Amino acid sequence: MEAMVPNAMPAERYGMFLWVRRGVPLALMLGFLSVGLLMPHGFGWWALAAMAMGGVAWPTFKQGEAYLQARRAIIRWDGMWVWLFRPLARMMGQEDAWILSFCGWNNRRVREAFEGRKAKRSLILLPHCIQLAKCKAPILDDLEKCYDCGLCPVGDYMHGILENGWESRITNRSHKAYREAREYRPDLIVAISCTDRLLKGLIKLSEVPAYVIPLTLPHGMCVDTQFNVPHLMAAMQTLAEPKLGPRPIEGQTGQTGQSAESAA
Ligand code: SF4
Repeated sequence: MEAMVPNAMPAERYGMFLWVRRGVPLALMLGFLSVGLLMPHGFGWWALAAMAMGGVAWPTFKQGEAYLQARRAIIRWDGMWVWLFRPLARMMGQEDAWILSFCGWNNRRVREAFEGRKAKRSLILLPHCIQLAKCKAPILDDLEKCYDCGLCPVGDYMHGILENGWESRITNRSHKAYREAREYRPDLIVAISCTDRLLKGLIKLSEVPAYVIPLTLPHGMCVDTQFNVPHLMAAMQTLAEPKLGPRPIEGQTGQTGQSAESAA
């Protein structure tokens, strides 16, 4: 197989989250200042309230190294805003869009931080539901046991991983993914999962910068899920250093052409 050509990363979509996360405190700040100017006797208190709102908005302006250093607190604050406005988003039928907008904002800031200096110790986390449900290839034990039959994204993913030597884990439980990540101590995580688990993962592992990509669920939750392999490869090529030059995939000659049915 030819080496994969780097792809452009898609633009992040984060307008909804940023308008709320930055816009609400800034609007309140201006409102408090205006009220203070209209009521000169109590100006000090209104000015204090306006400064507090400025402080709430301030972390949204941090970029690069300053963002990475403050990331843990920033994610906790941002997570609180996601949680606060989630019921409203649900009522408006925008719950997924709201969470994905937060994920897009997170991705934008991680991209800014790593585009200049790539991660040296990156880790990819994927859920087991990307494997075709009827396939019995034991990819949880060894990714190279995939027969590359083309019926699910695992084969293409395996080629990309082996060509670049990137560390990756496919797990069937979120807590195992968190444990694997903490044991490996990466400086960047690239994670793929459903919307809700991406949100939980970002907050649980707030100490590690994470670029996240949502699954698509053509057959519902946790069954034969799909993801955009070129998007993942583009993210890794942009944000992380490869660990190896291209290398041949062991055992592929004998295994190519076996189908998922023959593996089942
Ligand atoms: S053998 Fe086919 S169905 Fe099974 S994991 Fe590999 S690509 Fe997916």
